Amino acid sequence: MSYQVLARKWRPRTFHELVGQAHVQRALVNALDQGRLHHAYLFTGTRGVGKTTLARILAKCLNCTAGGQGDEGITSTPCGECANCCAIDEGRFVDLIEVDAASRTKVEDTRELLDNVQYAPTQGRYKVYLIDEVHMLSTSSFNALLKTLEEPPPHVKFLLATTDPHKLPATVLSRCLQFTLKHMPPERVVEHLQHVLSAEQVNFEERALWLLGKAAEGSMRDAMSLTDQAIAFGQGEVRYTDVAAMLGTLDHRHVLALVEALAEVDVAKLLSEVATLAEQGPDFAAVLDDISAILHRLAVAQMVPNAVDNSHGDREFILALASRFTAEDVQLYYQIGIQGRGDMIHAPDLRSALEMTLLRMLAFRPQGVPKPPQTPLPLKPEPLESPGTASTDPTISATPERSTLQVDEPVSNDPGAAEASSVEPVSGQSEPGNPVFADPAAVASAPPWDAGDTQAASAMALAPSEPGFEHSTSEPEASKPAAGESEPAETDAVTEQSATEHSFSEHPGVEGAAYLDHNRWLALFDALKLGGLTRNLAAHCQCGHDDGRTLVLLLAPSQEAMRAEIHQQRIGKALQAQGIERQVVFEVKALDPALETPQQRDQRLAQQRHAQAIDTLSHDPNIQKLQQAFGATLVETSVKPASASR
Ligand SMILES: [Zn+2]
Repeated sequence: MSYQVLARKWRPRTFHELVGQAHVQRALVNALDQGRLHHAYLFTGTRGVGKTTLARILAKCLNCTAGGQGDEGITSTPCGECANCCAIDEGRFVDLIEVDAASRTKVEDTRELLDNVQYAPTQGRYKVYLIDEVHMLSTSSFNALLKTLEEPPPHVKFLLATTDPHKLPATVLSRCLQFTLKHMPPERVVEHLQHVLSAEQVNFEERALWLLGKAAEGSMRDAMSLTDQAIAFGQGEVRYTDVAAMLGTLDHRHVLALVEALAEVDVAKLLSEVATLAEQGPDFAAVLDDISAILHRLAVAQMVPNAVDNSHGDREFILALASRFTAEDVQLYYQIGIQGRGDMIHAPDLRSALEMTLLRMLAFRPQGVPKPPQTPLPLKPEPLESPGTASTDPTISATPERSTLQVDEPVSNDPGAAEASSVEPVSGQSEPGNPVFADPAAVASAPPWDAGDTQAASAMALAPSEPGFEHSTSEPEASKPAAGESEPAETDAVTEQSATEHSFSEHPGVEGAAYLDHNRWLALFDALKLGGLTRNLAAHCQCGHDDGRTLVLLLAPSQEAMRAEIHQQRIGKALQAQGIERQVVFEVKALDPALETPQQRDQRLAQQRHAQAIDTLSHDPNIQKLQQAFGATLVETSVKPASASR
């Protein structure tokens, strides 16, 4: 059975199948039905929002031969079956001329193109020119185009597309009817993926779709390609853990856990969560951004619960969490978070900057030291903490069943809040007459937190995770002498490979002149600090040829769908930031099985660290005591090494 990729199979074939662009759809359908089509349209919007798709649909509307209404046989509902429709759908219709202006910027190219405009269409009624990335044309090319746009032959329609309309001359803009194609919000992507996967009878977890929806960065096409990858990765199913591993995404639950630790004013938990996060080598600035974003949603949840979005599939959790903060605290934490973000550029290393910002939030609370009653959160998405007590690894188990709890009015119905009646959402904990900003000096005079009372009860349960393991790694951060100087570079000396990585990423500029080879590529990878899809794609690349000007990155054929100009540019920029000037080009080619991609390397190192952690733990005298006294067993999947702090 041949498998057709989702993006192609589910590409909209009529205006009515177009997802999320209703405004464009309505305008074009009306124009077609009334036979008042403009001769030039300009579509603006980021990549993957459907410019080519629109052009194809319009070409079909203009050329379908299955008896449309109107004098010229134009229809807004092409049949999809006649010879012309089929040819267009299959991308072999000669009168649909697609031009990538990025690769044809010269005036001769444009002239050659426009010379052919005057000739009648060969196959259909209309010739449709789609000029993508039209802002890349040179000034003289624009002038040549302008003449044609002023007096186009009647059988020609122009569709111009650009991501950057501000770079277009006003003369061109004024001759086009302009539409802004909408960025696809994660909700819409998730909705569509649910529809598609159900129709394809592919099992999926909704939370996994939210990850895909977010990673797609507004592009439905990327969402579909990523879903295809996820299906292959998950052997026919779309599972959260698979998708998270595939995308290398920061697990949103870790960020929620940090905010939860803020709610509990639990400093130990806060630091150990940061240590857990550090293991994933995250972008700490992005973590702080995520925390600020959650604080914003908490503030909304406290004041207008109905307005809380479900952008991470965590709406109910946010509503429950909101009832555990005072409004003042949320505002204060947000402000400290935003300021801390700005200060990060001055910080010696980003991890300690994040920790300081979080600690500052607690240190400056108006209430000062005392902890609020620690009520267990009823709607926790996952048991994220205490590897000693939990028997499941949060990154492996998946329990989206929290929907079984009804939370129509979470603030008042919250069973946790009922238990501890003193916790009221907005007015509860604020001391009389003491608004957001307490006098820092007064707060500072008291110890910022205490490790006593409530902690003691859980100390036994937490013991196995504590002794010298996560702690020993969250502390040396301060005593690491040179590591944090310029880069959050590789600091683990697990293998000799990472030892070489260290020396490279410490002096990226010094090595700038040499040619890149695969080892150097591996060594540089983390220092490039690529994010999102670009990182995902680059992590699957091997270094190909480098001549000092052009760097060829080899891309496995399985990743070809993800290839895009923008990723080449981003990698180029990241290299430039390391003092390496290269034009980056992807080449699709079977990879050398003897070499590791950055992704394979990271996977191997993570496995090594995990094995090492288990080894350390099983030799830990405290654990051995627990095992002897209580017959405890070590749940290996719950072990989270923190030694990989970067
Ligand atoms: Zn047709």
